Amino acid sequence: MRPVDDSLARRIEGICPGRVKTRYDLGRHSWWRIGGAVRLLVEPASLAELSALRLVLREAEVASLVIGEMSNLLICDSPINAVAIRLGTHFRAAERIDPVTVSVESGAWVPGLARFLQRQGLTGLEHTCGIPGTLGGLIMMNGGSLRQSIGANVVSVTSIDAAGEMVHRKREDCEFAYRDSIFARLDDVIAKVELRLEPGDPLAARRRMHSILRARRLKFPRKLPNCGSVFKSDPASYADFGPPGAMIERAGWKGVARGGAQVSPLHANFIVNHGAAKAADVLSLIGEIQESVEATCGHRMQPEVRYVDQNGRIWPADRAYRRLLSEGPT
Ligand SMILES: Cc1cc2nc3c(=O)[nH]c(=O)nc-3n(C[C@H](O)[C@H](O)[C@H](O)COP(=O)(O)OP(=O)(O)OC[C@H]3O[C@@H](n4cnc5c(N)ncnc54)[C@H](O)[C@@H]3O)c2cc1C
Repeated sequence: MRPVDDSLARRIEGICPGRVKTRYDLGRHSWWRIGGAVRLLVEPASLAELSALRLVLREAEVASLVIGEMSNLLICDSPINAVAIRLGTHFRAAERIDPVTVSVESGAWVPGLARFLQRQGLTGLEHTCGIPGTLGGLIMMNGGSLRQSIGANVVSVTSIDAAGEMVHRKREDCEFAYRDSIFARLDDVIAKVELRLEPGDPLAARRRMHSILRARRLKFPRKLPNCGSVFKSDPASYADFGPPGAMIERAGWKGVARGGAQVSPLHANFIVNHGAAKAADVLSLIGEIQESVEATCGHRMQPEVRYVDQNGRIWPADRAYRRLLSEGPT
């Protein structure tokens, strides 16, 4: 991949006027408050702009990455030579297309979407009301809570591929699995999602959401920056080994620190930043915990969080840790 230079920046500014930021500090805006700046951040305002942008980036052979709220991303400490694409304020519309189906743009804030659906008398996504991300990030991760996942409500997903072409996929083609989807293996930008819900009582849905939020407030660390659950709580391994937090605690990691990062004393499947944590501190904890839990419990947990390297590539955090060991910081 080639470096992002000033002439490319000017071309991109021509496609997305006024919506290009130079050396944008991803770390300051990520939920972990860790990491460096990306060479350019671009916020397209329409599908046409997004398509044109993707085509130009491909022709220029420059790395790009798509970000949402960065509530599931660990950003590397060094400057990132890539173009970050964020579908922000211009991609948040939601409309009802029949009594039980809504079409929602991928930049929508998930807790806001859960409230919108509740007010519309549509139920099924209350479990997402406390997940601090965009719909695009949620679809990519097939996220959810309380043993539920967004994929169950998906009718179709529209994305823009690296050549700038629009692709429609029905749910069956999205390869949804536990905290995984086909989008983790593709280089597509998710733009729009059709969701099917059930008609239901808005008051009952509101009560359910309040009780979910109350339970999360009691259970999860809230005062220090974190990225939610670090390891996946896969239902299959849950049945045999219990939740990741319990395995991590049994292996003796609760409260253990590396640099400024610490396994939360409140919930062992969370890693918190005490203020000066480096991405390498978090990666070390993730890699060491994965190996130690496998040695003590016999189960290899899979990380939920993903790592952005200095070339803008996104990795599962455990693979990034092994690269860190063999090649040094990226
Ligand atoms: C306090 C806290 C609690 C959390 N609780 C939960 C929970 O209960 N359940 C859960 O599932 N998750 C949870 N998370 C994790 C996180 O919020 C979710 O994974 C969320 O869906 C990530 O969305 P995002 O917009 O922040 O994506 P990001 O973190 O910015 O990106 C995550 C991945 O999605 C990709 N991506 C983002 N947008 C797009 C797009 N438009 N097209 C293609 N790819 C895209 C990125 O490239 C990246 O690979 C929690 C996080 C925190 C901080």
